[in-house]
Amino acid sequence: MNLTDENGFAALMERYQFSAEVGGLIGLLIGDACGVSFEFCPADQIPPRDQIDMVPPVGFPRSHPSVPVGTWSDDSAQALCLLASLVDCGEFSLPDFAERLLQWMEWGYMAVDGAVFDVGNQTREALDRLREGVPPDESGGETVLDNGNGSLMRVLPLALWHSGTDEALVHDAHLQSVPTHRHPRSMVACAYYCLVARAYLAKVSEPWWWADHRLERIYSDWRDQPLRDSFLFELDVLRRFPVTNKPRGTGYVLDTIWSARRALEEASFEDVVRTAIMFGNDTDTTSAVSAGLAGIRFGLEGIPARWLRQLRGVELIKPLVDRFSNQRN
Ligand SMILES: [Mg+2]
Repeated sequence: MNLTDENGFAALMERYQFSAEVGGLIGLLIGDACGVSFEFCPADQIPPRDQIDMVPPVGFPRSHPSVPVGTWSDDSAQALCLLASLVDCGEFSLPDFAERLLQWMEWGYMAVDGAVFDVGNQTREALDRLREGVPPDESGGETVLDNGNGSLMRVLPLALWHSGTDEALVHDAHLQSVPTHRHPRSMVACAYYCLVARAYLAKVSEPWWWADHRLERIYSDWRDQPLRDSFLFELDVLRRFPVTNKPRGTGYVLDTIWSARRALEEASFEDVVRTAIMFGNDTDTTSAVSAGLAGIRFGLEGIPARWLRQLRGVELIKPLVDRFSNQRN
């Protein structure tokens, strides 16, 4: 790949071009950064497919106009909080992860330029409770209306980092959701997405089908009966979403899952991102959730070089990616 080193990416590319895990992480960041300019835009006002890019067409009223093009938002900052916590602790630690989420919201930890500009309502309320001393396993919203995509959008690094059993991955995926989203629907969506990511990493031929069946098996064997019933019920709700809904790219966690699944039908990284953004609405998150999987599937080589050149914040990623990769080897 012909990549000038304008933002420090060339060295990273050279080192990790064959790593599906690094492809997934960078894919997530790129998807997020591409989607930021179109956030909140209804589908019918999104530019034509060939004009959707990191730099929107001239005259398009960008969301967050004061944020430089190529900047990732809350999705990626929180995902990097998760990855840093995993790398530093050597396991998923709920208190450590929750503390890093607070550091992000208050001080801009893992945010480009240290600037926080995009905080979801449910996440803000939960992190406010956390700051006031509510423990992280009780701070997340727990009603059925608290199922925004705020814990799904950041969970990918768990699947990239995890080397444990599918059961252990599902358990940790649930736990990483609870500081901000502790309704079982959000927990199940995070677990499902992590298994899909694991299937893409393993190059399983039908990753979504595999994850669905694997998750049903794991929940059927869950020891605690009320939890077993609840997780199986929510898995069924997730499955039935397309019976009455089309993917619309909204902030509802199940819509995000199904919008991403539709976007992944495309045959290139670029088209996955563009399809995700064409749904409109919560474009940065739909695109981040889709592009993380696309980054695994197509690798760093599949990400357009211009997007790699335009991504900001490489100085935050590089030391973390080096430490993550060293631990895996
Ligand atoms: Mg965002």
